[in-house]
Amino acid sequence: MTAKAQMIPDNPYLLLTPGPLSTSAGVRAALLRDWCTWDDDYNNIVESIRRQIVSLATTERGYTSVLMQGSGTFCVEATLSSVISKDEKVLVLSNGAYGQRIEEICQRCRINHCVLNFGELHTVDPEVVKQTLLNDTSISHVAVVHCETTTGMLNPIEQIANVVSQAKRQLILDAMSSFGGIPLDIGKLSIDYLISSANKCIQGVPGFGFVIAKQSKLEKCEGNAQSLSLDLYDQWKTMEEGKGKWRFTSPTHVVRAFAHALDELSDEGGIPARYERYMSNQKKLVKGMQALGFTPLLPMQDQSPIITAFYNPDSSDFDFKTFYTRLKKQGFVIYPGKVSEAPCFRIGTIGEVFPMDIDRLLTIVSNNRYWLEK
Ligand SMILES: *Cc1c(COP(=O)(O)O)cnc(C)c1O
Repeated sequence: MTAKAQMIPDNPYLLLTPGPLSTSAGVRAALLRDWCTWDDDYNNIVESIRRQIVSLATTERGYTSVLMQGSGTFCVEATLSSVISKDEKVLVLSNGAYGQRIEEICQRCRINHCVLNFGELHTVDPEVVKQTLLNDTSISHVAVVHCETTTGMLNPIEQIANVVSQAKRQLILDAMSSFGGIPLDIGKLSIDYLISSANKCIQGVPGFGFVIAKQSKLEKCEGNAQSLSLDLYDQWKTMEEGKGKWRFTSPTHVVRAFAHALDELSDEGGIPARYERYMSNQKKLVKGMQALGFTPLLPMQDQSPIITAFYNPDSSDFDFKTFYTRLKKQGFVIYPGKVSEAPCFRIGTIGEVFPMDIDRLLTIVSNNRYWLEK
């Protein structure tokens, strides 16, 4: 067979993971052509994406957006190291691996920071944040994760944002795993920077991340970054002045597929409709898993519709890898646990995944509880 005649195989399994996640056939088809990075055809796509993500994030004016090559973490690092100047300081609110990653970025990039760690099983407490901001006037910024993908926990962003804006500090939100899947207006909440990536709830393919920023704040960030490629300000300036131009090679195919993913989001009914679908997936999953003897890690009120952690079955015969491999052979890929405080595994409910897929999964899980056979 010639290379040209070879067929691209269909996906052998559905990804029930927090990204990259299962994408639609339309999104994958949108990858199949080449683009010239300095041509208007391509730059117009970039500009349209930049406008659309801003309008998904807020109805208020004064916000702008920047796209940045790399995975989501590249954008988190670019933001922290570009917006916090040498004589400023960020308070990191942490309750999981992604909060911890923000802390690690601050250490590596030598960004002045302090940390409030609430533990993996507790939401961020806005009252503690309020007191900390009162006590330490050298804190200029607060950074927090919206949906902590480690556990699936949803932090109380409205209350946190209110505390931060009342204290007149800037707020940086890692909304990587929630943007596009959970309604949120960053303008109403005075959030200064929201970070997300192509391959989460917008349901694109991996290859770039983006930041939606209050323009008056971002404009003051020139010269802060110690990194060339991760300079968020320079990237924004080039995109703004070049009307959709990237500084370095841009992931053209991925960008085009993302534009298609935005069209599909709109066709679905926008963020509220997608949120409803993810909620239906997640509720069905938890109800069904509980009926099969599994216990979710988090209480319902702390749980996001994005990903759910379940305790491993209380049996010495249970082994995650065996369970995983059996489900994979039957069409579903689940996710290992990342919680250090409890043995668990995770199942994502985002991406091109529908309640009927969850029904199929539950049947397969039911038939593969091999630790009960004996
Ligand atoms: C996925 C994710 C990231 C970024 O991870 P990458 O692997 O760099 O794409 C950051 N924060 C949260 C909360 C995430 O879910």
